[in-house]
Amino acid sequence: MTDTADVIVLGMGVGGELLAEHVADAGLDVVGIEANLVGGECPYWGCIPTKMMTRAANALAEARRVPHLAGTATVDPDWAPVATRIRLEATDTWDDRVAVERFEGKGGRFVRGRGRLDGPGRVQVGDRTFEARRGVVLATGTRPAIPPVPGLDTVEYWTNHEAVETKEVPASLAVLGGGAVGLEFAQVFARFGSKVTIVERSEGLLPPEEPESGELIAGVFGREGIDVRTGVGARSVARAQEGVEVTLDRGERLRSERLLVAIDQSAPRAPYRSSMVRKFDQPDNAPSGCSGTARVRCLGRRAWQRRPRSSRCFSAAGRGHQ
Ligand SMILES: Cc1cc2nc3c(=O)[nH]c(=O)nc-3n(C[C@H](O)[C@H](O)[C@H](O)COP(=O)(O)OP(=O)(O)OC[C@H]3O[C@@H](n4cnc5c(N)ncnc54)[C@H](O)[C@@H]3O)c2cc1C
Repeated sequence: MTDTADVIVLGMGVGGELLAEHVADAGLDVVGIEANLVGGECPYWGCIPTKMMTRAANALAEARRVPHLAGTATVDPDWAPVATRIRLEATDTWDDRVAVERFEGKGGRFVRGRGRLDGPGRVQVGDRTFEARRGVVLATGTRPAIPPVPGLDTVEYWTNHEAVETKEVPASLAVLGGGAVGLEFAQVFARFGSKVTIVERSEGLLPPEEPESGELIAGVFGREGIDVRTGVGARSVARAQEGVEVTLDRGERLRSERLLVAIDQSAPRAPYRSSMVRKFDQPDNAPSGCSGTARVRCLGRRAWQRRPRSSRCFSAAGRGHQ
C-alpha cells in the first residue's frame, strides 16, 4: 500500500528533525523516517555527551594545577558520574521518546526504519511505500568510517558510539585517527587515567587544519602523557591476550586494552545517493553557499513555501562534523 505526504524526511538527525518540525509547523503533511534515534549523532553519541566527558576531564586537569597555583589537592578520577550524567541528563539512556512525541505533537508522522529511495518522490521502508507530493529530503548524515585495515574485522573495536556508552575507562587505549573526534576522546580518557596512543597517518594531528594547530595540540598532548604517532598508519590489527595489538607500517607493535577507530567521520554518502536518487537537484531558492545542516535551515524556513515544478530530492547531509 502506498501512503502519501507533502514531504518525506529521510533521516531524522539534527538536520532532518529540525527541518521536519519546521515543515510540520508550516502546516504541511510530513513523514519523518529514522533508522535509529530521532536527533541522530549529536545528542546521543556526539556533541552533547562528548562535551559532558570533556567538561569532566577539564575539571580533573584544572584540579591537577592546584599544587602549582594554590596549595594542595588530591585528584582521584571516577568515571561513574560521567557515565551516569550521559545516561540521565543527555540521552535518557538512548531513548528518543521525547523527540518522537515532540515531532508527532506538531502533526508529523513518524516511521521507525531504514528507508530507501524507490523512484522519484518515493521511499520504501520495509514493506511500506511512501510517496511525496512536494519532495523528499535526504538528511542521512554520516557514520563512522571503518578503514580497510587487515584484521580489524576480527577484533572488538570502539567507534564514537561505544566510547560514549562506556561505563569504564580502559587501562590503555589506541586511537586510530588524529582528527577532532579521535583527539577529543584521547584527551578525555587520558585525563581519566588511561594510557593513550594516537596513530595518525598524516604528518600531523588535525590534518584538515593549519599545521600549527596540530603542532600545538601535539605539544599539549605530550605534556599530558599521550603518546602521539604521526606519519604512520596501522598495517594490521590482531587480537591480543588482553585486548588488541596494532602493527604499525614500520613494523612496531602497540598493545592496548581497547581500540578506538576515529577515522574522519565525514564518509561521503555520495555512493548511496548516486545509486538511489534518480533526480537529485538543488532547490530553486536555496541561497548559494548554503550547505550541509545550514542548508536544511534555509530549506526549513523557505523552500516549502513554493511548489516545486516536480518532485525532487534535496540533500540535507553535511560533509563535515565539527
Ligand atoms: C564524537 C562527535 C562529537 C561531535 N561534537 C560536536 C560538537 O561539539 N559540536 C557540533 O556542532 N557538532 C559535533 N559533532 C557533529 C554533529 O554530531 C553532526 O554535525 C550532526 O550530528 C549532523 O547532523 P545530521 O542531521 O546532518 O546527521 P546525523 O546526526 O548523522 O543524523 C542522520 C540520521 O539519519 C539516519 N539515517 C541514515 N540513513 C538512513 C536511512 N536510510 N533511513 C532512515 N534513517 C537513516 C541515521 O540513523 C541518523 O540518525 C560531533 C560528532 C561526533 C561524531
